Amino acid sequence: MTIYLDSAATSRPGEACLNAMCEMMRETYGNPSSLHRFGLEAQLRMEQARKQIAAALGCESASITFTSGATESNHLAIRGAAYAYGKRKRRVVTTTVEHASVKGAFDLLETEGYEVIRVAPDADGVLHAEDIAAAVDDATCLVSMMLVNNEVGAILPVQQAFAQIKRTYPQIITHCDAVQGFMKLPVNPVKLNADLLTISGHKVYACKGVGALYHKKGVRLIPLMKGGEQEGTIRPGTESVPLIVGFGAAVNELRGTIAERAEYVSSLRSECVRQLSDLEGVAINSPENGSPYILSFSVKGLRSETMLHFLSDREIYVSSGSACSKGKQSGVLQQFGVTQDLADSTLRVSFHAENTDADITALCTALKEAQEQLVHKR
Ligand code: PMP
Repeated sequence: MTIYLDSAATSRPGEACLNAMCEMMRETYGNPSSLHRFGLEAQLRMEQARKQIAAALGCESASITFTSGATESNHLAIRGAAYAYGKRKRRVVTTTVEHASVKGAFDLLETEGYEVIRVAPDADGVLHAEDIAAAVDDATCLVSMMLVNNEVGAILPVQQAFAQIKRTYPQIITHCDAVQGFMKLPVNPVKLNADLLTISGHKVYACKGVGALYHKKGVRLIPLMKGGEQEGTIRPGTESVPLIVGFGAAVNELRGTIAERAEYVSSLRSECVRQLSDLEGVAINSPENGSPYILSFSVKGLRSETMLHFLSDREIYVSSGSACSKGKQSGVLQQFGVTQDLADSTLRVSFHAENTDADITALCTALKEAQEQLVHKR
């Protein structure tokens, strides 16, 4: 019996998504740019998906650009917005707790001569909106900040930071990587004061390889590739219609149950914390007011990889830090105040609405066994 507790890494595509995708591949496989009726049908289905995504974000469908995933959306947003300013403004601001794809985009800008300011959480691991706002100035063109941290689940004060920034510098472009918040918490780019916002399909029961960028009307982006006229020329290349239509179907299915699902996984998370507190040497790394979907904790005396394999042998699937780092540490845990020693002993558990209390019990029982069998053998 597989126990999947790694939904922050990826999710299983739902029936609505699979059915829609199969139908697009079997029947409606036209190129959406073709002028004949077959192409038009594919285009109509793609536009329906755009509407479904836009409705979930509370924006117009014209603001949605489809991409190959959040990594591409983040690069297009961050580098595309910075390049649009040309040589005029070369200061960009982000945080030290971003996903590797955002970090990577800023690292690239740095090698190109941009001044990159990376704002860190305080000694208690809390990132303050005031510190982000204080880091921008007249020479700043862009600020990027994630909504929910993928390693510990901390919810960052995006709305407050962006509101403060926009009050003084309305011309500064604001970008939010909302991958771990989308369809899990209410996410509305307008309410967040985000000009650009990144989402990914495979975290919300759609397929890997599709994502989107919300893009406020009037915000100029320089495309990262030159080619055809697709996606308003911002993202040239024939759209992956099956993946896009599946993305729309998956999101449409989740709409209306955000609060209900969050409440349910929150009870799972509390149960997990309760059962973990019965084990010796467990430290919780996630903030109490973080996302209910993510729980990071450390088990003293056991290495992450050892625990991961011990659990994997029992078909219990969790993550060490974040899946994207393939077991390698990103340094983000330390930014949230986790000591190096505990960072080496960290697991990330992430829930979905089909998990049960029995899954949590199986996890904690297996961890207890791991402690009994492995701790004294080190
Ligand atoms: N940002 C965050 C916060 C993520 O958690 C992830 C996925 N781990 C990404 C970006 C990258 O998403 P994708 O796999 O769609 O490129």
